Amino acid sequence: MDKRSFLKFFAAASGSLALGRGGELSASSLSGTTSPQELQHLAQKMFAEVISQNDYYVNRQGSTFFERFKDSQHPRATVIGCSDSRFQSDALDATAENDLFVIRNIGNQFSSNMGSVEYGIRHLNTPLLLIVGHSRCGAIKAALSDYSAEGPHIIQELDSLSLSVRKTSLSGTEETQWLAAVVGNVHQQAFYAQKEFKQDVESGKLTIVGVVYDLANDFNNGYGRLKIVNINGETNPEKLIQFPLMKSVFRPVHV
Ligand SMILES: [Zn+2]
Repeated sequence: MDKRSFLKFFAAASGSLALGRGGELSASSLSGTTSPQELQHLAQKMFAEVISQNDYYVNRQGSTFFERFKDSQHPRATVIGCSDSRFQSDALDATAENDLFVIRNIGNQFSSNMGSVEYGIRHLNTPLLLIVGHSRCGAIKAALSDYSAEGPHIIQELDSLSLSVRKTSLSGTEETQWLAAVVGNVHQQAFYAQKEFKQDVESGKLTIVGVVYDLANDFNNGYGRLKIVNINGETNPEKLIQFPLMKSVFRPVHV
């Protein structure tokens, strides 16, 4: 992918984040060529929206909501997700407050935020580590392409994703390869986590689950569904459904 296409991927993501509901411009209208004046106007508009949405949230929740957890947090899952604005934690949990300890970066990488993940597992004792990739991931697309013109920080993150991509067997159309690379990266991040928390997994204290949030219906199971691809390093769908964890999953379509 050339630099322009690469920027377009990220601009599309930040565009939907910046405008949110009721935004005047579509996500695709934001690009590297949007003028500083327009960007300043958008920032002002978005910030006003953030304040107003926060007011709405505070009023809706009421003080008793916050009093329940103001002194300590007790999340039940540590989540590593992609920063992509099309994925948000309410796709996993409608009431995520005090429930999900979320770490996000481009390409849902364990390796670039190991300390935060370790905090969730070792200090907050979450019994579940969820690694959430997603279909149409711009970071994975970039890692599949030539990103040598990027700055050093982006290159560092993409190099790590590129390693995942190289370990994935890729064939078929561009779309098929893209999706396979998304899955391959979830496996690779799960592998790193498995290595780091081996004892916790073996003792049963921790379960590591890799899923793909399918925002594009690329698996043909429906838009926004979770595809479970990895449990504690196991990737065979027939074996995945035998995990005790899967007893509460009523829809085999997820595997
Ligand atoms: Zn992504």
